[in-house]
Amino acid sequence: MSFIVAIDGPAGTGKGTMAERLAKKYNLVNIDTGATYRCVTLEMLNKHIGLDDEEAIAEMLKNIKIEMVNEDGKQKFLLNGKDVTTEIRSKEVSGNVSPVSSIKQIRVAMAGLQRKMAQGKDVIMEGRDICTVIFPTADVKIYLDADAEERAKRRFKQNQEKGIEMSYEEVLASIKARDKNDMEKEIGALKIAPGATVIDSTNMTIDQVEKAISKIIDKRKKEIKKEKKIYWERPETPWKKGVRATIKAILHAFYKIVFRLEKVDEENLPMDEPVIICANHLNYWDATGLVVCSKRVIRFIGKEDLFNHAFLNWIAHVFNVIPIKRGQRDLEAMKRCLKALKNGEAIGLFPEGTRKGLEKGAKVQNGAAYMALKAKVKVVPVGIQGTFKPFTKVRLVYGKPLDFSKYDAKNPEKDNLEQATKEIMDNIIMLTKKEK
Ligand code: C5P
Repeated sequence: MSFIVAIDGPAGTGKGTMAERLAKKYNLVNIDTGATYRCVTLEMLNKHIGLDDEEAIAEMLKNIKIEMVNEDGKQKFLLNGKDVTTEIRSKEVSGNVSPVSSIKQIRVAMAGLQRKMAQGKDVIMEGRDICTVIFPTADVKIYLDADAEERAKRRFKQNQEKGIEMSYEEVLASIKARDKNDMEKEIGALKIAPGATVIDSTNMTIDQVEKAISKIIDKRKKEIKKEKKIYWERPETPWKKGVRATIKAILHAFYKIVFRLEKVDEENLPMDEPVIICANHLNYWDATGLVVCSKRVIRFIGKEDLFNHAFLNWIAHVFNVIPIKRGQRDLEAMKRCLKALKNGEAIGLFPEGTRKGLEKGAKVQNGAAYMALKAKVKVVPVGIQGTFKPFTKVRLVYGKPLDFSKYDAKNPEKDNLEQATKEIMDNIIMLTKKEK
């Protein structure tokens, strides 16, 4: 799995310098996304393509070739095979790049190119929308900021070193104009992403900024190392299957005696196709109850903290529990679930997200609906009736599988996800009230 450091921020905050230094320090591929927009801008200037000439832009995007190469440790950009590393920093390109990068079809094309450049690599990527659009789940997300005057001073000095002629006033005006345009863009606007660390470098030296970001990278690397130790997909060995069957049989008997557990309409749970089982969440007993009493092997999704406890970690591995990070979009957990569904397995989860979520008024999660649409699998709603107080009755009522194939699976829209989630919850609620 690749490691991604994403840095966003306005022009002249030192993102480029930082990316260069940190790439060397942590052995990361440095991807300057601004340069891709600059290449497109140069191509449009060369070909005299107007900002509103959609057809010519589409044609240009079809044929343009932007490459990033590393020569003697220096990053170079090639536009249709020609080295344009210096040319893309010209006054003309700098003055036009922001409006060019506001064009939707250009943003879509560059986003694809940038993700492709990063594919399978450990990267540091800097730009305006890396933490918000390109890699919202990056391992490290930084928003680098500084006063416009300070940034203009830095850029002016940089330009002088590169032999680019522009007065300080011109640089400042260009930076301010770009800030405004970058922040007001309809798509890919510059903003602070959720979970990003803001660093204001106005009164910091380059070394201080590098140290601050390094600290965040080191911390994240340590966390990843720990996570890897705690969880990894272990193979299904005969021993594991045997242990699981034994624990299941013992606990099944326990649930039957202590909770007088009864299963209703279990034939609604298909045995030979991938499926998502969604139930209401009462307390700690219900997930275990569903797993040990259902005829099918169900892989439940459990909070990651579970894996920190040695015994629970072992049990979770025997039952192939999929860990999920609470309170954030956990893409890794989603990928593991989709992989399991692709393998024909059954996944169990609680759309309420938390115990007695409906009672507490918690927002119902649409993860189950998303997975059902994406993996094109059915959802079996289950209503759990009872309180799990010893010797009172508990009933697991299985509903008919819900089919969401009517919705677009490739691009599940928010409305469809909400509609599907509502259908799942309505069925669960109905089943919790179903009498014999
Ligand atoms: O980083 P740099 O100043 O080279 O970027 C040039 C311009 O490209 C920015 O002012 C911005 O308008 C645009 N850009 C963008 N999204 C990115 C990177 C750059 O819109 N990810």
